[in-house]
Amino acid sequence: MIEQIAEAGVVGAGGAGFPTHVKLQSQADTVVINAAECEPLLHKDKELILHRTDQFIAGLAAAMRLTGAKQGIIGIKKKYEHVMTVLQPKLGKTMQIRPLDDAYPAGDEFLLVYETLGRVVPPGGIPMAVGCVVMNAETACNVAAAVQQTASQAVVEKYLSVGGAVEHPCSLRVPLGTSLSDCLKAAGGASIPDPAFVVGGVMMGTLETDLSKPVTKTTGGLIVLPQDHFIVQRKRWTWERTVKVGRAACDQCSFCTELCPRHLLGHPIEPHRAMRSLGFSPERRADVSGTMFCCECGLCSYYSCPEGLDPRGVCAENKRRIIAEQRSSGQRSSAFLLPFREKYADQMMRNRKTPTSRLITKIGLAKFVNKAPLRDCLLAVQQVTIPLRQHIGAACVPVIHAGEVVRAGQPIAKRPVTDGKPALGADIHASIDGVVKAVTAEAVRIEGTGK
Ligand code: SF4
Ligand code: SF4
Repeated sequence: MIEQIAEAGVVGAGGAGFPTHVKLQSQADTVVINAAECEPLLHKDKELILHRTDQFIAGLAAAMRLTGAKQGIIGIKKKYEHVMTVLQPKLGKTMQIRPLDDAYPAGDEFLLVYETLGRVVPPGGIPMAVGCVVMNAETACNVAAAVQQTASQAVVEKYLSVGGAVEHPCSLRVPLGTSLSDCLKAAGGASIPDPAFVVGGVMMGTLETDLSKPVTKTTGGLIVLPQDHFIVQRKRWTWERTVKVGRAACDQCSFCTELCPRHLLGHPIEPHRAMRSLGFSPERRADVSGTMFCCECGLCSYYSCPEGLDPRGVCAENKRRIIAEQRSSGQRSSAFLLPFREKYADQMMRNRKTPTSRLITKIGLAKFVNKAPLRDCLLAVQQVTIPLRQHIGAACVPVIHAGEVVRAGQPIAKRPVTDGKPALGADIHASIDGVVKAVTAEAVRIEGTGK
């Protein structure tokens, strides 16, 4: 089964892109399914569970078998009662639903593990450190398709929500490599003149100006917003601006720290200290090594800070600097020696969660709220551009040439092999029937021959 999952190219579809066959080689007592989908305006996971219930449960069962887990837990928001009603009667004896509060960032894997199991993953650790494996809902469906006995199916499709200022907000099922512009067209196009685009969710996603870019195995959404929208403006801030404004206006109120979800878990992260460090010389910035444990959820910058500053940007920059220093020195950062308050979460987490409804109001998304129902027929596209790296690990090596005819599901790029072993990664497959038009170091372009 592990080999089938590897050959099918399954990776974490929630955004991380970690190769699933590697994750499922661990032994764990619990598999936790991440169906929290906490980014405002994204709906594809709950839609997928509704439309692929049996496949979703089969994926969870397969993951439990492979990891030896005694229980499977599905973390999904309480508000999706209709999804739980469909799921509940079909669950095996060792599977349970754990309803989650409608808070942000409930889908952060560390928070999810705490909310579903009451266990705190230590700073810098992974969920395996507390005996569990976390898998996204769409990944579970892909695992089920890969291990089915009749014919293993490769990952060639992606589900994503298209929302915000579009004519018909929806969740789409598209061939991998479909352009963002085709997705936008399928949702009826932008409903405003001069739109801006966020790929992923509004909180953690990135601004995109080139809609010819493809949907990959980790693309969860395409959100359209006005150019002058708060989120768009904030995502345009440069590092120079973050530093200049942060130095001048941070009053050290520490709201950013007091509401930081990782801080509330007891991790040694204090974004207000990172802000204070903007006035220090680089050597003094060692004080803020706890920023290493920032998950970049954006809550501090878009919600908590009353001055509208960018602690997330500062933490992210610090984190990158610490990682670079760690790599060049070959030594583990001293951040891992910082004290970790194990019971802190029990005291703080209940009362300091950020309700999604309040977040939506604060960041100006109230008029874009929608349910993004799934269009469950595969979007027909003329061509796809399939990147050779859609996962954590090495880029795949093409195994086809320009001019070749390919079928959907056929391998087109494989993990590179060193010393007889495939590198960390996941194989890549054609997502439509067609002719290979171009093969570059980055991607394979296929022009469709099907209808
Ligand atoms: S919330 Fe804003 S003003 Fe307060 S400490 Fe954090 S960055 Fe500074
Ligand atoms: S982005 Fe801000 S709120 Fe989120 S984990 Fe990092 S410091 Fe904490």
